[in-house]
Amino acid sequence: GPGRDNSVDLPSHDDRWPRQNSLSMKEWDIPYDELKLYEVIGAGRFGTVYRGSWHGAVAVKVLHVHALNDHCAPLDTFKHEVATFRKTRHENLVLFMGACMKPPRLAIVTSLCKGMTLYTHIHLRKDKFTANKSVLVAQQISQGMGYLHARGIIHKDLKTKNIFLENGKVVITDFGLFSVTKLCFGNNARGDSLGIPSGWLCYLAPELVRALRPHASLHLPFSKQTDVYAFGTVWYELLCGEYPFKGQPAEAIIWQVGKGAKQSLANMQASRDIKDILMLCWSYRESERPDFPHLLSTLEKLPRKRLARSPSHPVHLSRSADS
Ligand code: ATP
Repeated sequence: GPGRDNSVDLPSHDDRWPRQNSLSMKEWDIPYDELKLYEVIGAGRFGTVYRGSWHGAVAVKVLHVHALNDHCAPLDTFKHEVATFRKTRHENLVLFMGACMKPPRLAIVTSLCKGMTLYTHIHLRKDKFTANKSVLVAQQISQGMGYLHARGIIHKDLKTKNIFLENGKVVITDFGLFSVTKLCFGNNARGDSLGIPSGWLCYLAPELVRALRPHASLHLPFSKQTDVYAFGTVWYELLCGEYPFKGQPAEAIIWQVGKGAKQSLANMQASRDIKDILMLCWSYRESERPDFPHLLSTLEKLPRKRLARSPSHPVHLSRSADS
């Protein structure tokens, strides 16, 4: 019948999911045996992501359960976060398909993102994003994030590594699972004494940086406004092709951000409007940061002609860049 996967021998769904309207977790419980795992796509701090198959191509995040510690109730947290995850349906968010929730097999199944992450585009391939393209990407991020926030979900880990670009379409991943995946499972696997993985710090708002303590990241005061701060950093990466505070040691970044200093925009080739967005997102006071609907309307109003001029985005009037 429709939806049948030739490679997997599936039991009848009617046996396991009797009531279509039920909101029970069962509907989202995928028996681990039904998953086919192929190669490893990547290993994060908490677990391993595989390319897999379950009614077609999927990404499977298998959590490292052996790394459980006593400071949290991982299974309950995991179930709670899965319950949140399943409420999401938006064009710019990765499709949540289900989860394996029987220890020691804990896994999250999502659609497989094609294309590359913004991180790969910007930092590995050094692809240049024209100002116009950056705006289109930022608009889609704002739409996805605005939706998450309207649903009461805080991403907590918005970064270019968690944003895919599929033929110009933005797909945000890894939202709402921060507590269980990043903190319960593998906090000390990598990073320095504060448990700070490289490339994380520049997304943290001042109030998060000030709350950093060794091994206590579970209690960080994440909020919608800390997501907006992180968006500011993504916006900076899109426009400048590098991280803010590039090359500076963690201690120096913590010191500066904690007391309200921001990456200087003096050398940045961009219009006032574009820099204003950055400065607002990076506001020291969270109450001064815009929300995503506001950001979206600001981005939509940006005058296209007056956007940043970079060598990759020559202005039609000037031929000097070509010769
Ligand atoms: P961290 O654990 O520090 O957040 P990370 O974000 O690199 O690190 P994961 O989120 O575990 O770690 O992702 C591991 C790899 O799997 C990354 O390369 C990521 O791009 C890839 N990946 C994650 N989800 C998907 C998906 N749905 N489709 C395709 N690739 C994915």
